[in-house]
Amino acid sequence: MPSQWTERFLVRLAYAEGGCWQWTGHVAANGYGQFWLDGRCQYAHRVAYTAVRGPIPADLEIDHLCRNRACANPDHLEAVPHRTNVLRGVGFCARKARQTHCVHGHAFTTANTYRDPTSGTRKCRTCRAVARERSRRRRQGVHGASA
Ligand SMILES: [Zn+2]
Ligand SMILES: [Zn+2]
Repeated sequence: MPSQWTERFLVRLAYAEGGCWQWTGHVAANGYGQFWLDGRCQYAHRVAYTAVRGPIPADLEIDHLCRNRACANPDHLEAVPHRTNVLRGVGFCARKARQTHCVHGHAFTTANTYRDPTSGTRKCRTCRAVARERSRRRRQGVHGASA
């Protein structure tokens, strides 16, 4: 592997519980470590996998066997078909597939969910409350109350 970036990469790894190589650099909102390489932001675990095992086939993606997304230990990484990872995983697509959150990202917990009486679909109570508050403010505005 080319030497100019490996040093920069390795200093950001820390040994962690379970033999994980914990990424101490920037971690994305989705929990994956990110590393600036070749002029673009790349996932740290993919960089590590590629460096040790070679290029990742286009139809495969890297799954964390340790479920620690910030881990970049190649021994904890496995190239799996995309679908396997989606079904196993907790990523955006998996969440979408399971519909655990409303479009605004509120969790569909028992307390936060109600059934729309007309359509029967799951609805978010938080969003309903926000919408009600908005229309209440609008009504007040119509009656001349200060905003
Ligand atoms: Zn790990
Ligand atoms: Zn919502």
